[in-house]
Amino acid sequence: MIKGLVFVLNRLIYALVIFIMLLTIPNISLNFLEKKINMPSAAEITDDKKDRIIEKATEYEKPDKIEKTNITEPELIKVFNSKTNEVIVIEPEEYLKGVVASEMPADFNIEALKAQSVTARTYLLYRLKKYPEGHPDHMGAPVCSGIHCQVWASKDDLIASHEDGWYEEYWAKIEEAVNSTSGQILTYEGKIIEPLFHSTSGGRTENSEDVFSTAVPYLRSVESPYESEAPKLHDSVNMTVDEFIRKIKSVYENLDISPDNLDEKIQLGEVSEGGKIKTIYVDNTEITGREMRSLFNLNSTDFNFIQSGNEIEIVTNGYGHGVGMSQWGADGMADKGFDYKEILKHYFTDIKIVSMK
Ligand SMILES: [Zn+2]
Repeated sequence: MIKGLVFVLNRLIYALVIFIMLLTIPNISLNFLEKKINMPSAAEITDDKKDRIIEKATEYEKPDKIEKTNITEPELIKVFNSKTNEVIVIEPEEYLKGVVASEMPADFNIEALKAQSVTARTYLLYRLKKYPEGHPDHMGAPVCSGIHCQVWASKDDLIASHEDGWYEEYWAKIEEAVNSTSGQILTYEGKIIEPLFHSTSGGRTENSEDVFSTAVPYLRSVESPYESEAPKLHDSVNMTVDEFIRKIKSVYENLDISPDNLDEKIQLGEVSEGGKIKTIYVDNTEITGREMRSLFNLNSTDFNFIQSGNEIEIVTNGYGHGVGMSQWGADGMADKGFDYKEILKHYFTDIKIVSMK
């Protein structure tokens, strides 16, 4: 009798455990070919969330004086010019003007341009310290002028590549952004940080380990709610279902996928804290979001598929890897009244803004 009761109780507990497990099972089996995944985009972030960002930002310390460090800025630096394959020698602050003007539209808010100036200077110092004899890909110079490092162009090249009147309208603003933040860099626990940035996060930035291999304490996922002006906040790539299948099969030839079974064969795997796709399963084969991004030339790994008849649309949110500072998010914050220090402290977790000797 007691044995029988224990058996029944055990079965009940077992059923309860299974029930709880079912409730907490992750979205692995969610078929997202038909059902759009519900991920927030910048445009969809609520006023409540925006308020929280504002509250958080006002908590930031606002030092009147920027702390001085023992780090020194060299008088001259070497830059490998990727266009001419020559190493040039230039003053760092001059180099920074050419970086800021290349990496951010000059009509951005001055506070966003200042944030980019500090970021560019930090990146330069980080590279100088890491590669004092030059980067292995361009020996003799710790930085190059291409996207491999941070983009730099000479003043003449900038004038030539912009519309008439650009120099007269914007150069003083670029100079002000660099000069007014002169010598300022970002550190974490006293060390110069690697200040990654990207164009548009799509509503939330990424944890570094979800994009690159290492977890970096100052490259954490944070909200980025003011990106509504970003031209590539929402975008899409369209093709026929046959083309879509052909492309996937060009890399994974043995997959059993056809126009009739796509909706069953594609399933969502893991999603990052930043709302981007880490993995999907196609016919039970795991494919990373990054592979899909490069295969279909997508703006980001925050994507969805929408199939209608023989057409497939891959809809994307954001532009770039999503780690560190969102440039359009920085401009949006600046337009909301945040200064460059608040912007930098928002996108780079627990960093300090310090001044070189
Ligand atoms: Zn480089």
